[in-house]
Amino acid sequence: MKWESDQLPLKCSKCNANNIISHQEINDLNIAHLDCDSFYASVEKRDNPNLQQKPVVVGGSEKGVVAAACYEARKYGIKSAMPIFKAKKLCPQLIIIKPRMEYYTKISREVRFIMERITPIIEPISIDEAFLDLSGTQKLHKCIPAISMLKIQKEIYKSIGITVSIGLSYNKSLAKLASEQNKPNGFFVLGKKEAEDWLSEKPVSIIFGLGKSTVKKLNSVNIFLCRDLKSSPIKDIKNILGSNSEKILNISKGIDNRPVIRKNKTKSISVETTFSYKKDDDKLKNELHLLCLKLSLKLKKKNLFGKTLTLKLKTTNFKLITRSVSINQLFHMAHHIYSKAEELLDKELKNSKNYRLIGVGISNFMEESSDHYELKFEDKTIQKKNKLENAIDEINEKIGFNNITVGRHFHNN
Ligand SMILES: [Mg+2]
Repeated sequence: MKWESDQLPLKCSKCNANNIISHQEINDLNIAHLDCDSFYASVEKRDNPNLQQKPVVVGGSEKGVVAAACYEARKYGIKSAMPIFKAKKLCPQLIIIKPRMEYYTKISREVRFIMERITPIIEPISIDEAFLDLSGTQKLHKCIPAISMLKIQKEIYKSIGITVSIGLSYNKSLAKLASEQNKPNGFFVLGKKEAEDWLSEKPVSIIFGLGKSTVKKLNSVNIFLCRDLKSSPIKDIKNILGSNSEKILNISKGIDNRPVIRKNKTKSISVETTFSYKKDDDKLKNELHLLCLKLSLKLKKKNLFGKTLTLKLKTTNFKLITRSVSINQLFHMAHHIYSKAEELLDKELKNSKNYRLIGVGISNFMEESSDHYELKFEDKTIQKKNKLENAIDEINEKIGFNNITVGRHFHNN
């Protein structure tokens, strides 16, 4: 279908499909955003066809919140992050499924694997969405990026059994906005010519990175739409957005020069775990310790030594907290990672105890050899701990992870 720049791309006049197969700028658009549709719920429905037409959410227990709501459930007004009890009130026959995070991660890797067939420049931004830069892929695939994206959309459905929505544009923020327009199984294209007008009529809340409170402040000075943002005195905007003013103003005009960053060269390694019920301090520390063992194992396998440790926590209200610390001795051994991570966790436990996610990561990697690394520790106790950990690693390598571990996990096994 051909359409004019003042029309929104809706349906194909030939086949009535939502997928746009032609657009005046279709040959020039290289930046895509791919987003799995209600990912966790779709995976659960795929595995259990009886659930297909039923309203389903994936989420915690009675006190928990909705992590993903299928499109049937959304008809009742159920949304992500809504408390389960509220969702149940809206839809008494709602089916609630406990999350299987490791399983979803595995499926996410399968999706990633298919994306890698069309470009190496992939920037995942969460378990179920990623940016792709398809510049220069046309020769290789003998088709324009739009067709490549349509092909993988079909392929993901055929081989994995879930639908994804795709946004295609000339920069990241527009590609992301585009992927949200036609969900589920959507394909939406935003070209340079229509982008600014298209954005003008949209509320400022659609600008990625603007929090609810910032939007409220903008509304209080009569800035509701992106159009208002552009026509408001810069002083008003700067008062509210501070150093981000220029970036946000640009995005509201369709300008965003951030490149898609290929996440191939390891920049950081992290592990995390979610839970649907409140854990006491000791149990939370046990989770953290187990994560540190896993993280260290990953670092050892890749021979990585990092300067910076980051602790990640998510409260039951979905507030994300990250705390980082950098050291000269480099993080590599589990006991060492844990001792610093525990320090950070202890500080946070003074503020709140209601967490639904804990994670730990290492970044800022340095060139280092294992032998040289050992020399960094003069402390005899640390040397002993290193030795013990190396011995445990050796045995585990033969018989599998976590078969031999330290005392604190005995009760978990
Ligand atoms: Mg999604």
